[in-house]
Amino acid sequence: MSDTIERVKCLIIGSGPAGYTAAIYASRANMSPVLYQGEQPGGQLTTTNDVENFPGYPEGITGPEMMMELQKQAERFGTDIRHGWVTKVDFSGDLHKAWVNEKEIHADTIIISTGASAKYLNLPSEQKYLKLGGGVSACAVCDGFFYRNQEVVIVGAGDSACEEAHYLSKLCKKVTMLVRRDEFRASKIMAKRVQNTENIEILYNTETDEVLGDGQVVTGIRVFNNKTNEKHTIEATGFFVAIGHKPNTDVFKDYLDLDETGYIINAKPGTSLTNVEGVFVSGDAADHVYRQAITAAGTGCMAALDAERYLAAKDADFEVATSSYN
Ligand code: NDP
Repeated sequence: MSDTIERVKCLIIGSGPAGYTAAIYASRANMSPVLYQGEQPGGQLTTTNDVENFPGYPEGITGPEMMMELQKQAERFGTDIRHGWVTKVDFSGDLHKAWVNEKEIHADTIIISTGASAKYLNLPSEQKYLKLGGGVSACAVCDGFFYRNQEVVIVGAGDSACEEAHYLSKLCKKVTMLVRRDEFRASKIMAKRVQNTENIEILYNTETDEVLGDGQVVTGIRVFNNKTNEKHTIEATGFFVAIGHKPNTDVFKDYLDLDETGYIINAKPGTSLTNVEGVFVSGDAADHVYRQAITAAGTGCMAALDAERYLAAKDADFEVATSSYN
């Protein structure tokens, strides 16, 4: 066996509220967890502005601040937090294997907390300007600043779209919101907030036909009414897409049971167990219903407790710390 292989008791993949909570519990249970942060350290909450519904923050907290606090808490108990993301796994043996680029890790237990990523419309023109960095974004909090005093368009009618439209309305001259049905999916309070904001115009039954630009940056959006098929162009320099998320589970698809949209299926409802013994799941990677920071944190706790019980049943010598072997 190569000496570059690292053996760990517990590998946590992902650094949202699920991953960090799993890390806090696993490190306090002497499992010496190693946590890989993934492509977006801190996860989706780093792109959220105010978190007002996480218990314990009566005045609210920003997403990035909350994730820094969670990271510090996990580090305080000794979690080994690393940059990098898992590119391959092999769950066919007793020890579970994962690769972070060339680095091979063998783990007694793996906790998957890879979350979900923003979806796009996948129109060629949208992808073109996304890749150019020329005015397409799925994160108003990250990119809204670049469009201050300008006119922007946002697609979506869920809570995310409402939150982002409201955020943009404070920076931008005008926000046009494209809602594909004749009603919002968002909670009433969030929908009301955008409906009552003066510089947000809501176009119902309206979809994107094409993102228009000068070859470098977005200059407008051609939209169509899906009832009348009428088209018109909205002048805009920014195009924000807020239409939901896709679970980050592709790397596990050869080993884990996934549903038709890619969410990991719990082997036993009410636990974090997957169909592979010793591999546990927490957070949005297995949750298409609740998708909240607090539920992700709760399932992170469950995954660490399930992993601890699995280790204790498998191996009485539970004091062994993370080690490398040849
Ligand atoms: P949702 O899946 O709830 O909403 C997605 C929205 O995008 C829907 O309105 C959908 O339209 C629309 N949509 C999807 N595909 C297209 C498309 N191709 N063209 C145009 N529109 C499209 O995702 P969210 O990210 O908004 O929310 C996810 C979860 O997170 C929810 O449970 C939500 O409550 C929660 N959340 C809570 C927040 C809070 O409480 N502060 C903030 C943000 C999210 P349609 O309705 O027609 O299907």
